[in-house]
Amino acid sequence: MNYELVFSEQLDGLREAGNYRVFAELERQAGSFPRAKRWTAEGQVQDVTVWCSNDYLGMGQHPKVLDAMHEALDRCGAGAGGTRNISGTNHQHVLLEAELADLHGKEAALIFTSGYVSNWAALSTLASRLPDCVVLSDALNHASMIEGIRHSRAECHRWRHNDVAHLDELLSQVAPGRAKLVAFESVYSMDGDIAPIAEILDVCEKHGALTYIDEVHAVGLYGPRGGGVAEELGLMDRIDVIEGTLGKAFGVMGGYITASKNLCDFVRSFASGFIFSTALPPAVAAGATASIRHLKESQIERVRHQNRVKIVRQRLDALGIPHLNNPSHIIPVMVGDAHHAKMISDWLMDNHGIYVQPINYPTVPKGTERLRITPSPVHTDGDIDRLVEAISEIWSQCALARQELAA
Ligand code: PMP
Repeated sequence: MNYELVFSEQLDGLREAGNYRVFAELERQAGSFPRAKRWTAEGQVQDVTVWCSNDYLGMGQHPKVLDAMHEALDRCGAGAGGTRNISGTNHQHVLLEAELADLHGKEAALIFTSGYVSNWAALSTLASRLPDCVVLSDALNHASMIEGIRHSRAECHRWRHNDVAHLDELLSQVAPGRAKLVAFESVYSMDGDIAPIAEILDVCEKHGALTYIDEVHAVGLYGPRGGGVAEELGLMDRIDVIEGTLGKAFGVMGGYITASKNLCDFVRSFASGFIFSTALPPAVAAGATASIRHLKESQIERVRHQNRVKIVRQRLDALGIPHLNNPSHIIPVMVGDAHHAKMISDWLMDNHGIYVQPINYPTVPKGTERLRITPSPVHTDGDIDRLVEAISEIWSQCALARQELAA
């Protein structure tokens, strides 16, 4: 077989569909984010403003986080030196887990090398080891949850996105003696909508199901201490497992679950994605702890974040630029075509140094391609002016093309 030909043909297929991913090569400028340097294909360096980062609060450059990381790096060295079980458990990991358990009001926490791994490892372990388990998974759950569930080989049913009546119906069909695991998110990353968490919990409690929520796009951002949407709604103690990332609003890297001591011990003891992987560098754990501690106390970042989001939305509305009207901080500007989304994104970068990555299939369904704008507290009024004016300019230039698309 000509393996190289197989690779090329499939990559060409992606290019033809407009779904071939091209990296924007950046160097984030600590201390001046959302400013960054970008290396062009021609080797030029361009100054850009980033409008699509998941470092939602700019904590990746917060002095407390950087100081904690520098200090831990000097004290503990670069890597953890092993898996958690074989020499890799650093005091910093233990402190971080205690901080996370406290954040979510749970008995314990367990950290992983990413949010992806935490979902994959925890869900595959729970679903494969709970007796005769049936998993009920929201139709728009993240790839890491889907892969974890798939790997468990447990029976799985998808409930229509955020449709509690459908979840109830599916749970009613499960034989009473079987374990039931319900997995869903709080803020959905691409549409920015928020799950009806209280109603989901009501149904799960009625059927005796174990509940697993992914708060990756909410931790640090919502709730009085940054515990996520469940904290904001006072629902944390009704959820069995709260999963989150340290790589988005907390600005560092890593993932975690928080739950009862027993459940965390169970995942710790059986999950291969935890057991057989090198632990996070201690400096990363120290940076994450500093970030969480700061956001438990400080409201400034959250308040300004929501203010920036509101202003961007109002400005887009005033200019008639369609964006999904959701209650979260994620602003999807709908384009509806992969080539157009890329063209608009390239134009914003080349002409205005504005970086918004186009989001295409399979991340979102075909025909719903979009620009996903994520304002942060460090975007200034001037940045917002430049963003909306540039989008408005390209939007009117594209009007004709969009009419053709709609026809
Ligand atoms: N869950 C959701 C909903 C996500 O969007 C992501 C990342 N995009 C993850 C989990 C994985 O988190 P991480 O980036 O920390 O691996």
